[in-house]
Amino acid sequence: MISVIIPAYNEEQMILKTAQVIGELLEDEEIEYELIFVDDGSNDRTWECICSIAGDKVKGIRFSRNFGKEAAISAGLCEAKGECEVVIDCDLQHPPEKILEMYELWKQGYEVVEGVKISRGKESRGHRFASDCFYKLISSATGIDMSHASDFKLLDHKVVDVLGTFKEKDAFFLALSSWVGFRTGKVTYNVHQREAGISKWSRWALIKYAISNITSFTTLPMQIVTFLGGIMLIIAITLSGIAFYQKLVGIALGGFTTVIILICFIGSIMMVSMGIMGYYVAKIFDEVKNRPKYIIGAKTNDE
Ligand code: UDP
Ligand code: MG
Repeated sequence: MISVIIPAYNEEQMILKTAQVIGELLEDEEIEYELIFVDDGSNDRTWECICSIAGDKVKGIRFSRNFGKEAAISAGLCEAKGECEVVIDCDLQHPPEKILEMYELWKQGYEVVEGVKISRGKESRGHRFASDCFYKLISSATGIDMSHASDFKLLDHKVVDVLGTFKEKDAFFLALSSWVGFRTGKVTYNVHQREAGISKWSRWALIKYAISNITSFTTLPMQIVTFLGGIMLIIAITLSGIAFYQKLVGIALGGFTTVIILICFIGSIMMVSMGIMGYYVAKIFDEVKNRPKYIIGAKTNDE
């Protein structure tokens, strides 16, 4: 059996359509399946829509509030009973027919099948540049090329079990599912236009998401601070040498510019460094609190 995990946040317009499209597709191929919708604390009628189609093949989980897509994916994977699991967006931007290709590769023995974007759909230039930078950073942090990676993937149940043992709260599914290794296949696809509703990501939400994921995979930003500190030290030693020489030969007038520049420079680097360190400390704090990743408010199979 294949479990299809569909995170949904304010997707009332899409639930029925998505369930129908994916359901028909798998039924036509006579593949046994279950659809798991995870309602990530929607404010619209998403949950009512899920309940209206819930049954043997369609299950629903409802969060008590919005915990984010990562948490929704975790909850779905945790609930899944299939031999393999597919994660797909609710807005049909990930072409469902590609699930069949992924399934074929899985049958050939691939344990992770990645959906690789060949085109990214409509995006502004700024957005594209920022996301390119983000994927470059993440790729260098994990040592795996992720420039075309996406959340659209198939995982063998074995891989899901491994991911389930990870205790980190701030998990980044896209990178972790590549990081675990296993025999990996690829299926390419074009990102479609969203069929209804709007994207749930504001620019600010995306920036926060990028920072959070980069810092959960690499401590490079902290090392950059050390590196900058080293460079500052060299500059400081050189400037001190010059100042000392000027003092000796008696031309040590002025010099206020240097002092001001130095104070500003050092001050700003210190503040940036403290900010970066503070960010990591905050992350440690969050992990230590050991709160649950998400809280389930209801499940369709409870009723
Ligand atoms: N999503 C979610 N929780 C959130 C935001 C989004 O579960 O807090 C879901 C959303 O319902 C959709 C998927 O994540 O199924 C991708 O979101 P969206 O289409 O808004 O992102 P985009 O395609 O614009 O990157
Ligand atoms: Mg989308």
